[in-house]
Amino acid sequence: MGLMTKIAAAIMVSNLDQALSLAAKAAELGADLVEYRVDNLAEAPDGAKLVNTLIEKSPLPCIITCRAAWEGGECDCDDQQRVSFLENACLNGETRPAYLDFELASHQKSFNIRQKVELMVDHPGQVREVETGLILSSHDFDKRPVDLYQRVEAMAHAAACRVIKVAWQARSLRDNIEAFEVLESQYKPTIALCMGEDGLPSRVLAKKFGALLTFAAIDGQPGTAPGQPTISDLKKFYRWDKINAQTKVYGVIGHPVGHSMSPAIFNAAFEAQDYDGVYLPMRIEPSYESFKATVHSWLDLPSLHFKGASVTIPHKENLIRFVTEQGGEVEQLARKIGAANTLTVRDDGSLYASNSDYAGALDAVVQNMGIPREEVKDLRVAVIGAGGAARAIVAGFSHYGATVVVYNRTLEKAQKLAEEFTNPYGKVVAAPMDKLCDSCCQVFINCTPLGMHPNVESSPLAADFAGYGPGIVVFDTVYNPRNTLLLRQARAAGCLTIQGTEMFVRQAAAQYSLWTNEQAPVDTFTKVLLDKLG
Ligand code: NAP
Repeated sequence: MGLMTKIAAAIMVSNLDQALSLAAKAAELGADLVEYRVDNLAEAPDGAKLVNTLIEKSPLPCIITCRAAWEGGECDCDDQQRVSFLENACLNGETRPAYLDFELASHQKSFNIRQKVELMVDHPGQVREVETGLILSSHDFDKRPVDLYQRVEAMAHAAACRVIKVAWQARSLRDNIEAFEVLESQYKPTIALCMGEDGLPSRVLAKKFGALLTFAAIDGQPGTAPGQPTISDLKKFYRWDKINAQTKVYGVIGHPVGHSMSPAIFNAAFEAQDYDGVYLPMRIEPSYESFKATVHSWLDLPSLHFKGASVTIPHKENLIRFVTEQGGEVEQLARKIGAANTLTVRDDGSLYASNSDYAGALDAVVQNMGIPREEVKDLRVAVIGAGGAARAIVAGFSHYGATVVVYNRTLEKAQKLAEEFTNPYGKVVAAPMDKLCDSCCQVFINCTPLGMHPNVESSPLAADFAGYGPGIVVFDTVYNPRNTLLLRQARAAGCLTIQGTEMFVRQAAAQYSLWTNEQAPVDTFTKVLLDKLG
């Protein structure tokens, strides 16, 4: 069933040439169907004739939709006028559309309208030969309708209805789960979609749940509903052709997540390794309650195969609390750091929270220096900054026995880190930022946003910093831009420099291996990341 799901390109028709050329482009991009939204033709002179020609010349089978304004469309006619227009538009030409979309609300309202609509389509009571199937549809651009299931049942029971369509504005990721449940009820071929940013999973995973179709915008066009991905987003980015009922689902949980590079990196890696997975942005409101309710709802639908997530700001602490409450396992060092960035759902369904940030940073340094992790104990490391990133890095280096000096603008924060992370093998001390110029460390790690876009002309170390020189390692966790002022200065002074992308790629690679039990395609990660950063 899942393999049959089609991509329908949505076109708001303004004239014949425009609609046909967009449809040709949709066909070229790989759409299977096209929906012609003819809302604005109902009152146009020769509007019905134009639709006759459009159907006849369409390069793909089509859906004809004349969406009423009260249902979120652009047609202001009353139902009688709309139905007369549709009769002329769909029945008078040489060719019939594959589907006619009509609103459930209008279908239910009047016997007369219902009868006219049903005469246009193929159904058990139809005597004429008509190939067109009726899509009964219902939309809510504000929220999930309270009577969602009554609407679905009404469509299921309408004998003339071939396809059930419900679409509503997602207020959170949880709405997608209901769309999947509607699809799983399998009364009839169904389209169940959530609109808006949080509704993307319902559009991408429509195929996993055996929907009749998903709608997509044509590349470079705005689309006809909020949140429609483009055909290329679906096909190239989200691996549409590979998605099936068993595909494992991953994502990046954060708020915001729109800017995250992780979907690009992970989907490309799945493609490179031919791994049966798809990776989505997952925006969750900052509160713990939202995190818990949403992650629960995703875990509780077994057919979703939700197997893991990268977790970022502001949910890294929430992840530890959630996994603890669920009786799962929390990596020891992640618990000590107080933040985790990786959720793994193990084969037995149990949860594991871990932190790949510290490992990503540690490995970026040791691998560039050509030493094993164990030799970190001989290093004296300057960590600049005492925020979240510094915390993970201090934890990692001190755990492996390094002597760490934390330099921070707010000294108390550095002192707090030093107290927390000094351990039997690694010593952590705090120092004010202005003492940095006298530092005699071998490794310098910038964990402040200094130098980050758009403030690319700032650097935590001066150009003439006396500590620079051959044998010194300078690592900037900032990765946008890749080549920060700090790294340029350090390189000019003969230091070994390490870019923030190296940490990013390694922490992602650690997540990939945990989830797939396979070696991560690091080259693919790097290539996609560098392409994105430009
Ligand atoms: P954070 O928790 O907000 O901490 C920021 C730290 O920078 C604080 O210690 C703060 O000092 C200091 N700081 C901020 N502005 C400063 C300024 N103008 N001068 C001096 N110190 C300043 O942020 P975070 O989550 O740790 O992230 C820090 C950076 O790490 C980010 O910008 C990001 O680029 C990088 N990062 C990279 C990766 C990677 O994979 N490569 C991963 C995570 C983070 P106070 O304590 O005095 O406020």
